[in-house]
Amino acid sequence: MAEPEHVRATYNDIHDLIKASSEKIAEFKPNMIIAIGGGGFFPARVMRTFLKDASTKRNIPIHAIGLSLYESLPGTTAEQIGNEVIRTQWLGPEIGKTLLGRRALIVDEVDDTRKTLHYALSELKKDVENELQDVPEAERDALRTKFAIFVVHNKLKPKHADLPPDVPYYAGAEVDDLWLDYPWEATDIHEHDRLAAADKAKK
Ligand code: 5GP
Repeated sequence: MAEPEHVRATYNDIHDLIKASSEKIAEFKPNMIIAIGGGGFFPARVMRTFLKDASTKRNIPIHAIGLSLYESLPGTTAEQIGNEVIRTQWLGPEIGKTLLGRRALIVDEVDDTRKTLHYALSELKKDVENELQDVPEAERDALRTKFAIFVVHNKLKPKHADLPPDVPYYAGAEVDDLWLDYPWEATDIHEHDRLAAADKAKK
């Protein structure tokens, strides 16, 4: 079988997309970033360069979760999705408290089938609801964490999971359903950049 077409993104391409997106994301006023590893780590760090906490003007703390995906068929239910995404790392035991009252931006490198984002958001929301159990009912709404999502690339394709419409969603670029090669995966970054430049010159 022929190798699927690859699209190479360079560090600079990604930096520019993150910078441009940060201007829109600033409106959400995030004061916490949750990076989905491994692909979300580098974008999350770059995003922090362009976003400061709107009230304190300080750097935004980055928390990390690690998720990995099993292959599955289209039309998978939300429950099945939960079984296909494996946690390799999660927030610490006190994180429920840390999440309360926050505006958290979830960051990943690419939204492909959307299963990873769906899983991350629904599990984080469960953590928040668990923590709210100990809070008087009248105070819960004010403390319920607000989430938004940022991905560097969103692939334009039918998704296997939905995201709630009340969660702001930002994508650096909408792209065709091709395989993206990220610079942090390259074993030879100079060759990666050379091929990316050659591809651009062809267009
Ligand atoms: P999902 O299908 O849940 O949206 O994406 C799962 C994960 O698959 C992503 O976080 C990413 O790590 C990986 N992935 C999906 N599409 C691509 C791609 O085009 N290139 C690379 N390098 N990873 C991808």
